[in-house]
Amino acid sequence: MSESRAFCPRCGDPVPDRSAGDPEAATDPLRPGTEVELCDSCYFDDFDFVDAPERIEVRVCARCGAVYRGNRWVDVGAKDYTDVALEAVSEALAVHVDVEDVAWQVEPEQVDENAIRIHAYFTGVVRGTPVEEQVTVPVRIARQTCQRCGRIAGDYYASIVQIRAEGRTPTSEELERAEEIANQVVADMEATGDRNAFVTEVGETDDGLDIKVSTNKIGKKIANKTVEEFGGSVNDAETLVTEDEDGNEVYRVTFAVRLPPYRPGDVIDLADDDGGPVLVRSAHGNLKGTRVTTGERYEADYEEGDSPEARKLGEREDGVETTVVTVEDENAVQVLDPETFRAKTVARPDYFDPDAETVPVLKSREGVHILPDPDPDTGDEDDDGYYDPYEDDA
Ligand SMILES: [Zn+2]
Ligand SMILES: [Zn+2]
Repeated sequence: MSESRAFCPRCGDPVPDRSAGDPEAATDPLRPGTEVELCDSCYFDDFDFVDAPERIEVRVCARCGAVYRGNRWVDVGAKDYTDVALEAVSEALAVHVDVEDVAWQVEPEQVDENAIRIHAYFTGVVRGTPVEEQVTVPVRIARQTCQRCGRIAGDYYASIVQIRAEGRTPTSEELERAEEIANQVVADMEATGDRNAFVTEVGETDDGLDIKVSTNKIGKKIANKTVEEFGGSVNDAETLVTEDEDGNEVYRVTFAVRLPPYRPGDVIDLADDDGGPVLVRSAHGNLKGTRVTTGERYEADYEEGDSPEARKLGEREDGVETTVVTVEDENAVQVLDPETFRAKTVARPDYFDPDAETVPVLKSREGVHILPDPDPDTGDEDDDGYYDPYEDDA
């Protein structure tokens, strides 16, 4: 068995047999297709340790700091662009596959506001020979406006949420809350990486609020969440605004939220009803409440929903503490009329505490009525209509 020999296919010099331990992979210049290795001299003639681009341009949004990567804008949250430049260069640099024990250092050099030079120093070992290389990649920061910021600047919107109320003007609390919901919906979508979510404009109108937002999906979410919280209903209407560049029709959707006519805490007098005024507990679905004459529970019919025919007498907040003069019987109590300070006999609801020295009362055109004592400790101030210690007594 003769000694196996190999030769450099370029210069013909003998090369050490690198496959001695693996006869199947033996190199042979006479057998095409087998891999033949160059001698060290020819190998290093061609050897390129680091492959670096001549220069890199990084597109950043001058308004929000987003960086254009691949084919889209990405929020990176970078304060300055050195890190962005470093990352772009790192991604663009390539090291020869044969090199082992690669180590590298980088040093950014800020040239001016829009130019950064990245100096990189590489070391490694190939064919038992230490190699090193220094490269410098100039990075230009191109300041542009991303699509989102362009749209915001152009007052772009795809959807309007109109906050209105049935038969009244929404309260400032409801309007503030609707705006908070809008900002929260957008923040939640941004948190999932959605760059197309924004509130374009919030404008008060004579009868409520108009919230312009960037997508129909956001408009729908805001409208639904507002109704979830306050009750009421949503109607949506599409308007054709334009065609996009592909000829598709583009619709703008208006979500009209109508908050219910009565709110928890309202005291109302129902039409065609002699059961006495009702303190509204919930306006979700059918209106629910408590009779302030008896303490009995009231719930509107399905047909009436959240808007039975009624007129508002006042609110629980309008109630004033007044002195209990005497308990007459199980149906009647004497209290001081809060305006005339004369003793007056009024209906005794079952939530009335016979030991109380004072009780909150509401005086309206329907007379004087004892209100439930608002006790924050019972959690009774919420509007869910589920927990009510007085209803449990009934
Ligand atoms: Zn050679
Ligand atoms: Zn931007």
